[in-house]
Amino acid sequence: MGIQGKYDMLIVGAGFAGLYQLYRAREMGLRTRVLEAGDGVGGTWFWNRYPGARCDVESLDYSYSFSPELEQEWSWSERYAPQEEILRYINHVADRFSLRPDIQLNTRVTAASFEDEEGQWEVTTEAGERFAATYLVMATGALSLPQRPKLDGLGSFAGAVYHSAQWPKEGVDFTGKRVAVIGTGSSGVQMTPVIAEQAAQLTVFQRTANFSVPAHNVAFTPEALRAAKARYPERRILGREAITGQFLNANTKTAAEMTDEEKLAELEYRWKGAGGGFRMLRTFADQMSNEQTNRMVAEFVRAKIRAKIKDPRKAELLCPRDNLPFGAKRLSVDSHYYETFNRDNVDIVDVQATPIVAATPHGLRTTEREYDFDAVIFATGFDAMTGALLAIDIRGSGGVPLRERWKDGPVAYLGLGIAGYPNMFVIAGPGSPSVLSNVVHSIETHVDWIMRLIRRMYADGLKRVEATREAEAGWVQLCADEADKTLYTRANSWYVGANIPGKPRVFMAFVSGVPTYRRIIERVEANDYEGFKFASDAQSGELVRSSTACANTRSGNHHARRQ
Ligand code: NAP
Repeated sequence: MGIQGKYDMLIVGAGFAGLYQLYRAREMGLRTRVLEAGDGVGGTWFWNRYPGARCDVESLDYSYSFSPELEQEWSWSERYAPQEEILRYINHVADRFSLRPDIQLNTRVTAASFEDEEGQWEVTTEAGERFAATYLVMATGALSLPQRPKLDGLGSFAGAVYHSAQWPKEGVDFTGKRVAVIGTGSSGVQMTPVIAEQAAQLTVFQRTANFSVPAHNVAFTPEALRAAKARYPERRILGREAITGQFLNANTKTAAEMTDEEKLAELEYRWKGAGGGFRMLRTFADQMSNEQTNRMVAEFVRAKIRAKIKDPRKAELLCPRDNLPFGAKRLSVDSHYYETFNRDNVDIVDVQATPIVAATPHGLRTTEREYDFDAVIFATGFDAMTGALLAIDIRGSGGVPLRERWKDGPVAYLGLGIAGYPNMFVIAGPGSPSVLSNVVHSIETHVDWIMRLIRRMYADGLKRVEATREAEAGWVQLCADEADKTLYTRANSWYVGANIPGKPRVFMAFVSGVPTYRRIIERVEANDYEGFKFASDAQSGELVRSSTACANTRSGNHHARRQ
């Protein structure tokens, strides 16, 4: 089949990232097309419709900042909006900015290759359509390829099987059913209390107890929302300067700089007074780098967890072990998760002690016993950061498969561009701080940066841009070095790919925070895009300007203010 359409920019994915990229590209006058696998826009919020799904970054922050009008006209009902409301918001954005005509739904991209002769990207879809473009932007999301462990006998199970990230649109009614939830990450933690209310019996299969902290979610009163909207510009500025891209009132003192009374007061304040949620990650300035400080936070949270659960057996199982630093696996933020285990119809099974061996026609069999279920839910997460990209057969200049280039882990300069993959950008990908941040903020930062680069190329008559190998290697090393200074690398988390058997163990995010990262990429830009090489001719890749210097954090932008 020939090429169906030639565009200035092709964008893969119509979630938060794809829609904003489209908005900005069109603003510049680029002929742009978004290819989206789903039959609606929304990305994560389109697919993850499990009961209890909601954002755990406050919605006033987890929303676009590019349009003050949009900020003012949209009203969030709750501090942490539920999935259906976020999906409604994204659909509103698509309509308000007339984005739909340039979005092609039901279109799964299977391959993308940079054609050296034509100097363009060619993208192939599952249906066999082919498109060409000068620029290719991967807005495929960090957590979008569901992972479902292989389970012998699953085909014989007579009940229903679900995955949190492939939830039926029409919803599921678990009233009177015996339900199994496998997995206790954020998805399992969010769905457990809601399903427990419906189900006759809910059994949660836990492999690793992770930390979860209370959301203290509340509905907005009209006055509270009005007051918050009136301060929106200030809120956004505070968010931009916060390590996670959302203001969490971070304590700038290390534990050693505080008295015991002050430390306890700070912990209690974060647990409930300050509003809970991710504020607990910012209790002490050194909690992700100092083992002793981290252990103090972990002990505090463990004591809180124990106090919530009446049955000592369940409490012990649900308390994270001492070898898991607090926050080293992505923190969950819950509404009555632990309290749910006080219900008579809810139990927990430790699958490390008694692994699930197989599914049976009636349910699940562990090494200890058989369980009967009407439904089994996999809340087993994603092939994070690299999964969605590598699911597409991406080939760069010279036909080099990305699967080959990334076989030992992802490499990308600034988490944005990959050497050998000209004119391709990854939004919120490996090597960026995105998954450790308010991702909507990180998406806007990336898209704005990419658009300034493309504008510059148009202005200078440049047709081809690509990261240099040296800059890429330097960035990957920097990411690893920064991560090694923290406790993040100690956990078997999806941040290091540990949830996928055989995946190379690499810490895949830039750990030093959003403001530091932004200053680095802005400096790269100010320094004539150091670490990128350009050509005026897309085919040959003839170099017209290059800087081999590699960005680093030497200007030391760590903030000493509350973030
Ligand atoms: P996850 O954090 O990766 O959790 C998956 C769970 O399944 C873990 O408890 C894992 O155990 C367990 N598991 C995986 N394979 C298993 C197996 N073979 N046998 C038994 N247990 C197994 O996935 P998630 O809960 O879907 O969350 C992923 C990420 O999505 C989150 O960290 C977060 O970034 C994002 N998310 C965000 C929200 C939100 O509110 N904004 C909500 C949901 C998800 P181990 O821990 O032992 O690997």
